[in-house]
Amino acid sequence: MQRGYGDGTLKITRLSVFHKDLPLSKPYWLSGGRLRLDGLDATFVKIETDAGLVGWGGGTPWGHSYVAAHGPGVRAGLATLAPVILGKDPRLVGHVEQAMDVCLPGHLHAKSPVDMACWDIAGQSAGLAIADMLGGRYPDGTAIASSVSSGTTNEVIDEIERFRAMGYGSHSVKIGVGVEEDIACIRAVQAIRRPRERFLFDVNRAWSRRQALAILSAVVEPGVAVEQPCESLDDMAAIRPMTSVPISVDESLVTLQDAVRIARDGLAEIFGIKINRVGGLSKAARIRDIAMSHGIDCYVMATGGTVLADAEAAHLAQTIPSHRRLGVWACQDMITCEVAPGRGPRNRSGMLTVSSSPGLGFAPDEYLLGDPTAVYEL
Ligand code: MG
Repeated sequence: MQRGYGDGTLKITRLSVFHKDLPLSKPYWLSGGRLRLDGLDATFVKIETDAGLVGWGGGTPWGHSYVAAHGPGVRAGLATLAPVILGKDPRLVGHVEQAMDVCLPGHLHAKSPVDMACWDIAGQSAGLAIADMLGGRYPDGTAIASSVSSGTTNEVIDEIERFRAMGYGSHSVKIGVGVEEDIACIRAVQAIRRPRERFLFDVNRAWSRRQALAILSAVVEPGVAVEQPCESLDDMAAIRPMTSVPISVDESLVTLQDAVRIARDGLAEIFGIKINRVGGLSKAARIRDIAMSHGIDCYVMATGGTVLADAEAAHLAQTIPSHRRLGVWACQDMITCEVAPGRGPRNRSGMLTVSSSPGLGFAPDEYLLGDPTAVYEL
């Protein structure tokens, strides 16, 4: 039997960590202009094994002012986690996950790139794409949702047009400016909606409960859905019975317990599963299953990053039946650098489609990542 392919001897022997800044092609505002981002702090993980198999992962929080996650925290977390990762069989992804959770509770964004790299190796070992390891690919690719920065209504519509020109037929429009401004923006965007085009109005927690009720009662019409209207699940529990507008949750969807509460209490009709936020593909797949068993549709996305992050999301998304799968994101179209030129899932007529290649299906060019910031060895 070939060593490392099912004989129980495969071991993680080296964990290399790379840091790369990803400039955004233009400044990005969210939550009604409360937060501005000009670039992202990305961490890449290369896992090597004693059988020669190599896996790659990446973790890129959406800045440090958005939620409780930040780029340097990924690398600090990896320094703590490395001793329990080395020596593990990466194909036993659940064992690696358990060891990381015992070693460092929480800090999910630091564990996510390790989980991704382990799935990459597990898929290569089995000769299957990650999507097939996670239940099986549906053949059709996934619609890409844009991420439209907060701005004036005219700026928002100009940005939608820019994404339309790139083939996008789905858009996450960042609002949260104020009651009158948001009502005007939603109505103006709805007025230009094309047949089958999808808009999700993303508040990024900016509304108070009072503002949420005022705005949602004014914009009730088919096709309007809002994401993360208020800060917490308690807020959404308060407003949910008072509006018929479909609600998506992403910032408040972090743990499996969050997913269970949202599903059981009917707090939202859409999950925005952000893989880096929830701790990786292993945990994200369980949240997917909660959604599928409760009639909840899904967006699956990275929290930011390169084509690696987009590919990770596209793999999980493509395991969801198409009628329950709302979209992925191509953050690669918002940054100005490349780590795997021409490879991985790319925007084709507004769709991302993963291949049947084993694991992630491609690897970054290591020279584009620079020297590792840390190397941990068995
Ligand atoms: Mg969102």
